[in-house]
Amino acid sequence: MKTKTPPTQPTPPPVKPCKVKGCGRPNYARGYCQTHHRQFLRTGKVSPIRRYRPRSPGTLKFAGLRLSPQTVEALQELAEAEGLSDGAAIAQVLEEWHAQRSPKPKKPRG
Ligand SMILES: [Zn+2]
Repeated sequence: MKTKTPPTQPTPPPVKPCKVKGCGRPNYARGYCQTHHRQFLRTGKVSPIRRYRPRSPGTLKFAGLRLSPQTVEALQELAEAEGLSDGAAIAQVLEEWHAQRSPKPKKPRG
């Protein structure tokens, strides 16, 4: 008969959420999330902040943005092909997008 070891998985310390009602962000210091902690230090009180939105599932982080894997792949290809940084690739796409939206960016003088 095999003796199974009891499931003693190391449980990480429970992360209490921020003590501001309705905040939902993870605890950072003194029971507050990072935003509320900073707010408390700065103003001495806390007020509700924008609702916490957990990261969208199925997205990847790219240059500080959360994008679909397909978009990230396309941007990485562009960045590689043009020798651009991640941010510069996004900037280029946005510039092209904007150029398409405004067909006449500048009025000729006179
Ligand atoms: Zn908070």
